[in-house]
Amino acid sequence: MLHEIIDKYYLDKEKDRGRKPQKHFYISQAGKCPRHIFFKFKNVPEKELEPHILRLFEHGDHMHQLIMSALTSTRDVHIVASEVEIPPQELVSGRADAVISDGNQLYVLDIKSMNSIVFRSMEEPKPENVQQLQLYLYYFKISKGILLYVNKDNLQLKEYIFNYDSKKVETLINGMMLLRKQIDTNIIPKRLTSYPSDWQCRYCQYKSVCSMGAPDEMKWNDFKEKIQSR
Ligand code: SF4
Repeated sequence: MLHEIIDKYYLDKEKDRGRKPQKHFYISQAGKCPRHIFFKFKNVPEKELEPHILRLFEHGDHMHQLIMSALTSTRDVHIVASEVEIPPQELVSGRADAVISDGNQLYVLDIKSMNSIVFRSMEEPKPENVQQLQLYLYYFKISKGILLYVNKDNLQLKEYIFNYDSKKVETLINGMMLLRKQIDTNIIPKRLTSYPSDWQCRYCQYKSVCSMGAPDEMKWNDFKEKIQSR
């Protein structure tokens, strides 16, 4: 009984959020498959997320609150701002978890939570998380950032400190500008070269749509007809 009630609560909440076409990039999409982002902009119907995945997202938010609560209570660091929006501009929007200070230096803090299997097997920070953090450093004009990983199953932590990397940021911004051009000219980007074994493809809500197309770039107007006639 409760199982169905709770599942319905999460599914209804997700439906209420509505599905609107994306208008600009989010920093959290750094390192994500360009074709996936293209489909978001074009409001291609996504496979519905299962209720347990929606609960996992909410659980991740609780991990953030737990860490922020500890940081707020200590005197060893000072939280300058939390949930900080990057300065508004046309290309991308995003909100960093916090900007903190140790008394000498400002750091952008980004908190990521994951299960034990991923946490234990992770020998270095995930490239997409590093890319996201680098964009925060660029937009906040702060030279250092911290990626803090939380194991959701046993609350162990792993921490990585980074310096701003202008070359990495230039590549990221050029990539976003190219994708913006593809979106505006209705050219669907090619699939990831590691399709379908890439982890992004395994969890992609557009996997079945993507499989209907070719691996290379495609014209959106032709492909849209194919999806609609499905
Ligand atoms: S299935 Fe893979 S290549 Fe296709 S849109 Fe999704 S992430 Fe990209």
